[in-house]
Amino acid sequence: MKISRCIVYLLAAFSFAGSFHDITNYRKLHSDALVVDTHNDVVQYILNGLDISSRTVHGHSDLPRFRDGGLDVEMFSIWVPPEKTYRSYYEQADEQIDSIESFVLRNPTHVGLATNSRDVEKLIGEGKFVAMLGMEGGHPIDNDLKKLEHFYRRGVRYMTLTWNNSTDWATSAKDETDQEKHLPRKGLTPFGKKVVRKMNELGMMIDISHVGEQTFWDVMKVTRKPVIASHSSVWALCHHRRNLKDEQLRTIAKNGGVVCINFNPPFIDSTYARKENKLLERLQPRLDSIRNTIRGDEFIKDQYATEALMSEFDAIRPPLSTLIDHFDYVAKLVGADHVGIGSDFNGIAVAPKEMDDVTYLPNITRELLKRGYSESDVRKILGGNFMRVLRAVERK
Ligand SMILES: [Zn+2]
Repeated sequence: MKISRCIVYLLAAFSFAGSFHDITNYRKLHSDALVVDTHNDVVQYILNGLDISSRTVHGHSDLPRFRDGGLDVEMFSIWVPPEKTYRSYYEQADEQIDSIESFVLRNPTHVGLATNSRDVEKLIGEGKFVAMLGMEGGHPIDNDLKKLEHFYRRGVRYMTLTWNNSTDWATSAKDETDQEKHLPRKGLTPFGKKVVRKMNELGMMIDISHVGEQTFWDVMKVTRKPVIASHSSVWALCHHRRNLKDEQLRTIAKNGGVVCINFNPPFIDSTYARKENKLLERLQPRLDSIRNTIRGDEFIKDQYATEALMSEFDAIRPPLSTLIDHFDYVAKLVGADHVGIGSDFNGIAVAPKEMDDVTYLPNITRELLKRGYSESDVRKILGGNFMRVLRAVERK
């Protein structure tokens, strides 16, 4: 009797030591695992002259910081801001792809561009950081399936059907919410359905981040392949139009897709927008005067000015646990097979605490282990789920 009780205690001690051991070694698990982020806007910084080959003091990412964060694959966002319409979306998207190609060519021993899962595995085997391309907003295809094929040939492997602005063939979350009474229609047009079918045929992932609910439901009826949300969070935890409702999360899980959680404070913390508005009332004059000293478009001026006053935002940045709650919610609702990382780094001005830039990504691994996630579930969330969807969608 005494001996068996002793064994029970010993087993309990071992299992405690085991889990403790896992958490203290979270960095080892993080660096062993294939880590993928499905959304980063640093291309906008590159266009403004920043060279991300070496460490920079701006934004959330550059090559040395990707390495420090244990990130293996980054999907760089090709996004043309609507205000820059003096040149065609198509031409500007091509220029942005050139900028990433040039970054890869200038760093041949450290970086490779992947267009399929085999490339990803090969490049990681060679010890390289992997760049992939995603297009945010379907405007550059110019309502022409031939142009969609062009971007596929150039390596674009997901397309977010809309940005905040709708395309002619799909309505965005912003327009479906703000313009509801003025919209002639909602959802996908017949041409929009053709785009979805063509993306399935080409082997390009359909990204439902940014689309309106009607567009979402239309897409889910048409697609024959799993979809991704490259950078969205959970509506139940934070009622933002960019977030996904439970019924949408369940439908994406049923479709075999993956929801990659966005780190943007207004998407994860329902109290953030109110706090930020209050802070901006006080900071706006300083932000405006800093903006006047910065060269670049509106997006870059906003990013750099906020960065200059970042310490002022410290008091309102949500804690890391608020971000992890979104991963946890999706995993508990539909399973750990359907959640991933979609940071939106360099596209968001402020990041949650303990997630200051891409070098802080291992904290996600630590927090998931702390919440009791198994090593295998953590690996799925870090990148395994994305790889499953990539393999299911790509042309064999
Ligand atoms: Zn976005």
